[in-house]
Amino acid sequence: MSGLNSVAVFCGSSNGIDDSYVQLARALGDKLARDGITVVYGGGNSGLMGAVADAAMQAGGEVIGVIPGGLFGNGISADGVTRLEEVDDMHARKARMYELADGFIGLPGGLGTLEEVFEAATWSQLGLHGDKTKQVVLLANDGFWDPIHQLLDTATDAGFVRTSTRGIVSAASTIDEAIEQLSG
Ligand code: AMP
Repeated sequence: MSGLNSVAVFCGSSNGIDDSYVQLARALGDKLARDGITVVYGGGNSGLMGAVADAAMQAGGEVIGVIPGGLFGNGISADGVTRLEEVDDMHARKARMYELADGFIGLPGGLGTLEEVFEAATWSQLGLHGDKTKQVVLLANDGFWDPIHQLLDTATDAGFVRTSTRGIVSAASTIDEAIEQLSG
């Protein structure tokens, strides 16, 4: 796996969503673990976040959770991950997740997920991830991310997004495809 040692996964924290999303999250955690790729994630145990982390741990992988200290009090810290890093606040947490990861995968999620994938992409555009341009792959097997790609294409056509940076955010409909895009 060419230089891809760790992937940060951004995804929904809500419970009670369609099981196909949970299965996709579990399959991703499992595959990353089996490929020897460290999973970096938000440190919670709910929703797809918990599913990715749990499946990766079950497959014998390495999982690093990064969580702001205050969130521990709400009973949402993860049990049984390889390492749980406590940071001061949400901003420090994202910066640490970016630092730990060679690339990013966005699974279906809500406002938090949308904010994270776009911030990670913006940092790539600005060269804030260091030497590397870190890729953001939006992964779903049901077209969940299609409206976002349509919007990005519209913004590119209108000149708001440079053609040279449009590729920072890519689409994948399978886990293998997502990992391949991050490895390339
Ligand atoms: P959302 O998509 O709104 O459910 O937010 C999920 C994203 O925000 C995840 O990728 C996490 O990094 C972060 N996040 C939201 N809620 C939590 C939580 N309870 N514990 C840890 N991270 C969370």
